[in-house]
Amino acid sequence: MSENCLFCKIAAKQIPAKLVFEDPDLFAFEDIHPQAPTHILVCPRKHFASLDAAQPADQALIGKLLLVAAQLARERHLQPGYRTVFNTGALAGQSVFHLHLHLLGGRPFHWPPG
Ligand code: AMP
Ligand code: ZN
Repeated sequence: MSENCLFCKIAAKQIPAKLVFEDPDLFAFEDIHPQAPTHILVCPRKHFASLDAAQPADQALIGKLLLVAAQLARERHLQPGYRTVFNTGALAGQSVFHLHLHLLGGRPFHWPPG
């Protein structure tokens, strides 16, 4: 757990969130400002500031993160189209510096994403 990290505090249940998935490695919860009908954040319990901090030893954990997002998408019948996004760094819009994968679905998405 990293001091003063919002998502570490959500993992520790010190701050409430609508959790939709938990296991020993990962947790997932509803985004507080949803940008689509489904907007879930999937996070490792291990604190990484961003994808840039992930190391080769974290390969399985990062892979699992993606597979859990796909499973959550199937459970919500999002296969017609959904988007998974890592914002890495402030220039890309990252505002919480604990690695999280956005899972967005339930509406059309455009490209480029802006
Ligand atoms: P990013 O801008 O990629 O770092 O994404 C951070 C996301 O966290 C944003 O979509 C926020 O709406 C979301 N967020 C911030 N605080 C909370 C919170 N307390 N509970 C749930 N989601 C949050
Ligand atoms: Zn953290």
